[in-house]
Amino acid sequence: MARNLDPSCKQCRREGVKLFLKGARCETDKCAMERRSYPPGEHGRGRVKETEYLLQLREKQKAKRIYGVLERQFRRYYGRASRQQGITGENLLCLLESRLDNVVYRGGLASSRQDARQLVRHGHVLVNGRKVNIPSYEVRTGDVVELKEKSKDMVRVLQAVRLAEGRPVVPWLRVDPDKRRIEVVSRPKREDIDIPVKEHLIVELYSK
Ligand code: SF4
Repeated sequence: MARNLDPSCKQCRREGVKLFLKGARCETDKCAMERRSYPPGEHGRGRVKETEYLLQLREKQKAKRIYGVLERQFRRYYGRASRQQGITGENLLCLLESRLDNVVYRGGLASSRQDARQLVRHGHVLVNGRKVNIPSYEVRTGDVVELKEKSKDMVRVLQAVRLAEGRPVVPWLRVDPDKRRIEVVSRPKREDIDIPVKEHLIVELYSK
């Protein structure tokens, strides 16, 4: 399954914001954005003309990088969002939030979305008691996401649970960290999604 192989910190530096792609490291002063918060490359500190297209492109890239989605799949999400009722940009973010790897991350069972993706791919995650190894699997209201019994005390899971302690849980999930259990209690709403993306610019970009 294809995924973005660009170095994580370079992705943040390109976007000019912390995308929290590396888990615990992102919270420390080892974060590359703390030390070199300018774009990577030879001309990283040069002046860039901020065109309308560039602003729209950057918002789209940011969303793709945060959720670890490649262009073709992102376009498919956009297509689905535009066919749904309501505001396309908000629909798009809600679809991305409903990905299984994002839910595992939001529920504090993985320290980053990349880590969550790997947990899912390696078959550690159950949805309603059945193994699901597709990171893009879309969760629905009422679904219960858990880790396999054998996987509950893996070092990476223990670290993630510790990291998530004290972090507010999104209101559309009910989390029991001790049981490594997440229940989806509603659909995510835009106001619950705290990512630094202006989704209307993505819609403008794709509507051209
Ligand atoms: Fe981004 Fe995390 Fe790297 Fe900081 S440590 S630049 S937030 S991936």
